[in-house]
Amino acid sequence: MIDRRKFIKTMSMLGLSMPAMAKSFSGRSGNSSVVKNNPIILCSRGEKWGKKVLKPGWDILRKGGQLLDAVERSANVTELDPEDSSVGYGGLPNENGVVQLDASIMYGPTHNCGSVAAIEGIKTPSSVARLVMERTDHIHIVGKGAQNFARAHGFKVENLLTERARKSWLRWRENISDKDDWFPPKDGNYDKNRPNGTINVLAVDRAGDIAGITTTSGLAWKIPGRIGDSPIIGAGLYVDNEAGAAGATGRGEEILRTCGSFFVVEQMRAGKSPQEACEALCERIIYINGGKEKVNFNDKIVALNKNGEVGCAAIRGSKGSEPELAFWSKNGFEVFKGTFLIEN
Ligand code: ASP
Repeated sequence: MIDRRKFIKTMSMLGLSMPAMAKSFSGRSGNSSVVKNNPIILCSRGEKWGKKVLKPGWDILRKGGQLLDAVERSANVTELDPEDSSVGYGGLPNENGVVQLDASIMYGPTHNCGSVAAIEGIKTPSSVARLVMERTDHIHIVGKGAQNFARAHGFKVENLLTERARKSWLRWRENISDKDDWFPPKDGNYDKNRPNGTINVLAVDRAGDIAGITTTSGLAWKIPGRIGDSPIIGAGLYVDNEAGAAGATGRGEEILRTCGSFFVVEQMRAGKSPQEACEALCERIIYINGGKEKVNFNDKIVALNKNGEVGCAAIRGSKGSEPELAFWSKNGFEVFKGTFLIEN
């Protein structure tokens, strides 16, 4: 058995990075069916967020820059923006009022991946996930361990709870019960919907290689330590350089028990278009829940294949507010409206 560290060291002395090594061993670097020179980057949001999120990633891709830099810079936009209450800084907290973030990253050519879950105090968990992938022999690091790892890489530990998020949490807390010692909120202004959200960023570079990121603050008011689908490879994110990439948002528990993103990628491998593959997952989720009448939650899935075709489907929606994704390609910025299976 060759010692792994020695092996990596030798290869890096030869000028081969880990991704390059894996690529040359897979013998797939020259896959001729990949449409080359047709980069694209998408995110699971519409026009407003799509434009600002995709701009830095597209700037990198169109100049032939690094694929992983492109998806990371784009994901960082939402993570750093306190206006978004479902991702990174400004995300809604758990039931104790503490923001815990989940994120994952995956690189198609090698199937290398990394993720962090229930990480506190770090604004850009997708960047930490990338370091787990690139700088460790692990895939998932959670909780305090993830924060310590981030700190070791120079990340600052900060307060992620914005005033807006704290006030939402407080209203929720005060409303839970009339049997506890918290009086109901003074303004009575309580949103009964349990807010959630996530962002998926998927991209293909000039060489036809694919990568993706999923990042979220998860389900608002969750039990401390609960992690959703987003940091789990195969659930909230999956990338395969031949078949394509998929990312999920919405009720994570359903995506977890269907291995949602992996399911979608495998459907594409079997010949479905990204759109058909996304719809197939929604159908599967509805089926395992006992039919449309039983489903009172929502999930949305976005997908991309190596030819730059996109797909988007949600379990629920309504005419005029179909699930959407936005993408940037050589043809400029576009918004794609997907399909839904149950009318709201
Ligand atoms: N999927 C995320 C989770 O369950 C939340 C969301 O996308 O709304 O943590």
